[in-house]
Amino acid sequence: MDMISRRKILAASASGGLFAATRLAAASDDAIPQPQRPGHGGTDPGPRNLMRDRQNPDILIPPSTDHGTLPNLRFSFSDSHVRQESGGWTRQVTVRELGVSKDVAGVNMRLNAGGVRELHWHKAAEWAYMLYGTARITAIDQDGHNFIDDVGIGDLWYFPSGMPHSIQGLGPDGCEFLLVFDDGEFDEDNTFLLSDWMKHVPSEVLAKNFGVSDRAFDNVPDPSKLYIFAAPVPGSLESDKISGTTPVPQSFSHKMLAQAPVKTKSGTVRITDTSNFPASKTISAALVEVEPGGLRELHWHPNTNEWQYYLEGQARMGVFAGSGQARTFNFMAGDVGYVPFGTGHYIENTGTTTLRFLELFKSSYYADVSLNQWLALTPPELVQAHLKLDPQTLNAFKKNKSPVVPG
Ligand code: MN
Ligand code: MN
Repeated sequence: MDMISRRKILAASASGGLFAATRLAAASDDAIPQPQRPGHGGTDPGPRNLMRDRQNPDILIPPSTDHGTLPNLRFSFSDSHVRQESGGWTRQVTVRELGVSKDVAGVNMRLNAGGVRELHWHKAAEWAYMLYGTARITAIDQDGHNFIDDVGIGDLWYFPSGMPHSIQGLGPDGCEFLLVFDDGEFDEDNTFLLSDWMKHVPSEVLAKNFGVSDRAFDNVPDPSKLYIFAAPVPGSLESDKISGTTPVPQSFSHKMLAQAPVKTKSGTVRITDTSNFPASKTISAALVEVEPGGLRELHWHPNTNEWQYYLEGQARMGVFAGSGQARTFNFMAGDVGYVPFGTGHYIENTGTTTLRFLELFKSSYYADVSLNQWLALTPPELVQAHLKLDPQTLNAFKKNKSPVVPG
């Protein structure tokens, strides 16, 4: 806090009652953020949620460049309902939590060792990033090809729209993962479950369909008992493979973290889209690392909205929406961010450790446009006519001509 604000608070304390003076004395502590900057704002005597104010410094004390009305572009999985079942838990950030995200929804799920996400399908395509542990995934496609694989940290999977699949936590401690769906309305509580269907077909029809006795399905558990349920840890991947089958022509899994990272000005990036993970037709992704003090440079995406998941570190993101509108949001591990189609943005590492996050796009390909590169590839006189820069600054732009490498 600067000296001017401190003096103002002390002056206010002198004119207030004992109660107000006590509260303002507390407010003068540098550790307590106040919604003010020199000449603007004031203290917040309360009531207030100090923990959240501390997590959102750029909401409480926005940069003076922020302006206008932008929808909320941040939601934390920590604010989502956790559905707990016998085999693990799940929570989701969909259009119902983050209203702006009409095209993408996310789920964060934990499966204990042996825990099974019941055999199911849904209308949305499912993209996943493994956050912790190991899992066994199974699926088939519409041509009767099958798929089974074990995945670990940094691995992806992609199940096309409507394809049936399952996920099971392996030893020693199961897994945790992020699911991304190409539909903001997706609801993890509302998928097509194997047991649910079995319970809603007359037993004589099931018997006719499978060519077995009509008592064969008497012991199918109620769907409320499955969904995410405890089961024994399966044997080896080899022992779980079905003999005499043909695998899916394009693998549903991919090792994203194992990709060689591309070095950027302030960290690294790994890009995964149909060019290196051909099965993932509707979701493309970038795994971005920004070192302390670094910046994911000013840019925008020419194809679609961006849905983000923060893996570690601390960040702030500034978003520019045209017509003078700009807002800044703060992020940490477990938070979801969103960037509306076409809007300019940057992401700054505001912490003391590496910032890691995922950028997801409902698109078959990754693309971005860099402000640095645009200005480097535009005649300097034209840039100068707009921005009134000195010759040295104009000259410095030249180093950004190279092909797109996200900063
Ligand atoms: Mn699914
Ligand atoms: Mn971006």
